[in-house]
Amino acid sequence: DGPGTGAGDLLRRRAAALGPAYRLFYREPLELVRGSGAYLYDADGRAYLDAYNNVASVGHAHPRVAAAVARQAATLSTHTRYVDAGLVAYAERLLGLLPPAVDQVMLTCTGSEANDLALRVAAAATGGTGVIVTEEAYHGNTALVTGASPSLGRGAPRGEHVWTVPAPDPLRRPGADPAAELLAAVHGALDAMAVAGVRPSAFLVDSILSSDGVHSHPAGYLAPAVEAVRAAGGVLVADEVQPGFARTGSAFWGFERHGLDPEIVTMGKPMGNGLPIAGMAARAAVLEPFASTVPYFNTFGGNHVSVAAAAAVLDVIEEEGLQENAARVGAALRTGVREVAAHHPVVADVRGDGLFVGVELVAAEGSTEPGTELAADVVNGMRDRGVLTSVCGPWGSTLKVRPPLVATERDAARFVEVLGEVLSAYPGPPRPA
Ligand code: PMP
Repeated sequence: DGPGTGAGDLLRRRAAALGPAYRLFYREPLELVRGSGAYLYDADGRAYLDAYNNVASVGHAHPRVAAAVARQAATLSTHTRYVDAGLVAYAERLLGLLPPAVDQVMLTCTGSEANDLALRVAAAATGGTGVIVTEEAYHGNTALVTGASPSLGRGAPRGEHVWTVPAPDPLRRPGADPAAELLAAVHGALDAMAVAGVRPSAFLVDSILSSDGVHSHPAGYLAPAVEAVRAAGGVLVADEVQPGFARTGSAFWGFERHGLDPEIVTMGKPMGNGLPIAGMAARAAVLEPFASTVPYFNTFGGNHVSVAAAAAVLDVIEEEGLQENAARVGAALRTGVREVAAHHPVVADVRGDGLFVGVELVAAEGSTEPGTELAADVVNGMRDRGVLTSVCGPWGSTLKVRPPLVATERDAARFVEVLGEVLSAYPGPPRPA
């Protein structure tokens, strides 16, 4: 009857009160009541390994973050029109983690606001309006960034000044050089802008291409395209909402994996471990044309409580060695999934870095037809066995695996075991191991 007790009724009330825009995960929706570390618990006390949540990145209900939030909430929470030593200290600390040239930061509540602000800053700095994004990108929910989020599909028309470039497709274009492909596509987009009389402003890119299907490799392949955008007068906006804050293990920021030096960096989700805090950092000279003319105030952006959470998140990442953990556990996870792939050739590709893994499924062994239905069945089958994940990519055929950074090798082994079980049960009798 759905989640928890009396859940059918709760689902009906939910739909009636919230309306149709809110989607639920899973054929059998989950009502979660508690979280701890990499685990979530439903109303019946059943534990689920969270292999999807990159918000509670240092672990659900982390005691250190919770204590910082409680302490600050019991003291003061106000906004950036008063001087706040905690905000200044956090901004300095965050900038210390970014490349030296990126030396100023503005705080928002969501990644969408951060990207919206970034595009306005980029436009003021470059005098252009043309934006390049990847074909299945998601950059947020404001009017401006919805137009730069083609993954939203037909309901969210492309912005008038937005051009798209394809993500790599190692399965269907094997042997292609992702750097050369992307460079050619970016040149094509820049040419199209010129024909349309639009000046380039920004290449807005999530360097792990998460909604495009997790395209992490080869590290460095984004660099030539970024240089082409710069040569045409645009800037790089590195959207770190997904890869940022140590998730990829090999680097604290995703753009570092590609050797990039962005003019603007946006960040969000894991920044406050669930508290609403996001940000846009930029080089001072890039920020100046916008910031010196447009007054920007974000009532809740950079409030004391969210900043306290964000500072505690940095403490935990450092003190618990979570970047190193992401690297080690992520490597074990990919090795394990590749072993599953050896027995189940419908697992056609395993990609990723650190605790950000893409597992691409195809419809049948040897085929390159996307395994869209299979992926949906796998996600729901894993959910029924207590492991939470979801899909991404143009056909929804790639599992997007992103457990909290505190996940252990045992958790990775559990993911692998359950994935193997579900694939063995699909579509018919178990295959010999
Ligand atoms: N950029 C990327 C790459 C994202 O994945 C998301 C959220 N899924 C956003 C921006 C928007 O962030 P928010 O939901 O906090 O507005």
